Amino acid sequence: MKDIRFILDRLKETFGEKKREKPFRCLISTMLSQRTRDENTKRASERLFSVYSSAYQLSHTSIDEIEKLIRPAGMPKNKAKNIIKTAGILVEKYNGKVPDTLEELISLPGVGRKTANIVLERAFDKPAISVDVHVHRISNRIGIVNTRNPYHTEKELERCIPKKRWGDVNYLFVQFGRMICKPRNPRCDICPFFKMCDYGMKKTSHRDMDTLRK
Ligand code: SF4
Repeated sequence: MKDIRFILDRLKETFGEKKREKPFRCLISTMLSQRTRDENTKRASERLFSVYSSAYQLSHTSIDEIEKLIRPAGMPKNKAKNIIKTAGILVEKYNGKVPDTLEELISLPGVGRKTANIVLERAFDKPAISVDVHVHRISNRIGIVNTRNPYHTEKELERCIPKKRWGDVNYLFVQFGRMICKPRNPRCDICPFFKMCDYGMKKTSHRDMDTLRK
């Protein structure tokens, strides 16, 4: 059993607290972030929010107009369609507000568990673990979980992390995944969790064997 509290404490010392976000912006920018890089999401979000800042405004615009603004985020047609449909539902069903339950959020077009959980923890400060590629990869590398898909990672992490810390996981693991435990060539040489990490230890023992063979 890995000491997950130690991991979260160390990461928090390094990366600090996540920022609280406004629900509408959080939802739309997380929808834009699907399958693209952070800098593209940022550019597309800034362009979109400089013109439209509410569900009411977005629900009355055309797909073409949104598509143009969010192009930097990739898949503009799909994302524009989902954003406009979602804005319409927010207006009709929720008085223009973003709902704050998982069930309601995942019923919106283009919103899956990952996006919904981000909105719950960042915008509403509710206990939720959003499992993206970083969270899935790091949890499995260290050996906190042994899972094949993000859904099972989410459920396993919920089991072994105290509920009051669920909301820290995504933010801290994403920062750590960008800087140290990268998808390719993780920086195990400077990693504070090296001694407890299954992947890091295995990698080193292979390297030692290679050195011995030379
Ligand atoms: S030791 Fe390497 S693989 Fe393990 S958490 Fe650290 S950087 Fe990632």
